[in-house]
Amino acid sequence: MVLQDLGRRINAAVSDLTRSQNLDEKAFDGMVKEICNALLEADVNVKLVSTLRKSIKATVNFKDLPQAVNKKRLIQKAVFDELVKLVDPHAEPFKPKKGKPNVIMFVGLQGSGKTTTCTKLARHYQTRGFRSCLVCADTFRAGAFDQLKQNATKAKIPYFGSLTSTDPALVAAEGVAKFKKERFEIIIVDTSGRHRQEKDLFDEMTQIQRAITPDQTIMVLDATIGQQAEAQSKAFKETADFGSIIITKTDGHASGGGAISAVAATHTPIVFIGTGEHMLDLERFQPQPFVSKMLGMGDMQGLVEHVQALKLDQKDTMKHIAEGVFTVRDLRDQLQNIMKMGPLSKMAGMIPGLNQMMGGMDDEEGSMKMKRMIYICDSMTNKELDSDGKMFVEQPSRMTRVARGSGTSVREVEELLSQQKVMAGMAKKMGGMGKNMARAQQQM
Ligand code: GDP
Repeated sequence: MVLQDLGRRINAAVSDLTRSQNLDEKAFDGMVKEICNALLEADVNVKLVSTLRKSIKATVNFKDLPQAVNKKRLIQKAVFDELVKLVDPHAEPFKPKKGKPNVIMFVGLQGSGKTTTCTKLARHYQTRGFRSCLVCADTFRAGAFDQLKQNATKAKIPYFGSLTSTDPALVAAEGVAKFKKERFEIIIVDTSGRHRQEKDLFDEMTQIQRAITPDQTIMVLDATIGQQAEAQSKAFKETADFGSIIITKTDGHASGGGAISAVAATHTPIVFIGTGEHMLDLERFQPQPFVSKMLGMGDMQGLVEHVQALKLDQKDTMKHIAEGVFTVRDLRDQLQNIMKMGPLSKMAGMIPGLNQMMGGMDDEEGSMKMKRMIYICDSMTNKELDSDGKMFVEQPSRMTRVARGSGTSVREVEELLSQQKVMAGMAKKMGGMGKNMARAQQQM
């Protein structure tokens, strides 16, 4: 994903500066410039980049920094905070309520990924205990209903549509009424997209909106449209007044910055991002974890949610994290889970530090590396697995034994242990992760 390249570039700029001998104003300016160039190349709106540059400079205010202050920390924090601000709409995303019908209408141009995303979202809520269903109000494109039907059947989601009607508002109203009567909680209505922002399309959107009075309208935006994202989302906002955005195809080769800029243009939260063609390739979007992941700092909460949604075995790890502990065995269990979860390149970003370690590897190489890490764990004793890893530092002969037993090198054992140390540090910091998780669950 190109956003990760952007993250790597920003990270490199910050690390180069903080590692350099003379951390002076000139070097600091150079870093800010490099970050701005990277953002511009990723299609982030020029005005936003300019605001970001000014804010970083104002926050750090290099000239007046006292000698004693930890410049490195300050700069890292300023860059992180400004990137978060860039994607934060300062508006609360929609949260569906249990026990009542939540009607969600999708809008967007044809090909943006609307139909695919409707099903992904219905499935997302379904796995979280909401009774979900789909309504196809696209009577314009031949085959639209068939496509939705196929997706819905695969995901085992009830659906409604018409092969003969030419009135989308009527079909939408019928479908919503039917599912409301049947006490469905999430009713997602897919509408037709056209090639451009045509008047007909916008008229139709307003008619459907009037007919079904959705609790939430979501605009689907293709990450590959670059700078056009702003104009497009503004046009949709004026007509359909959507309350949230889903950006699709963030896994592609597009820079994605244009779509992200749409948040600022419309002050509307991105609620999810599409990360592939598969049904599970939908991630919840939150500014802080998104930036954290982009910069290779991981997204533990995202990982936890993903694991929960897949109902994978996570036994004691969650309990441990809630207690602020993360043992070698926890790392092993999580590695194993990740290998079950889909393409590694996608999952590795969620684990702090793992992305850097896997830097440049393709999925096959990455998967081999993970397997070797699991072999290493499997050569440890129970006592070692359940430890915080310190006993390896105290008795380095343990590392030699494990490396020999697993057919790997001491260097690889060291790498694994430093990975576990990073995770343990995160778990400790998150301390009452139990609380955070309860909050995360409420937000879903
Ligand atoms: P619609 O015309 O807006 O309903 O778009 P579709 O749902 O038919 O999607 C158009 C194409 O985009 C299909 O081939 C989808 O598989 C693909 N697509 C949708 N979302 C994603 C995504 O997040 N990543 C990738 N790589 N492809 C996607």
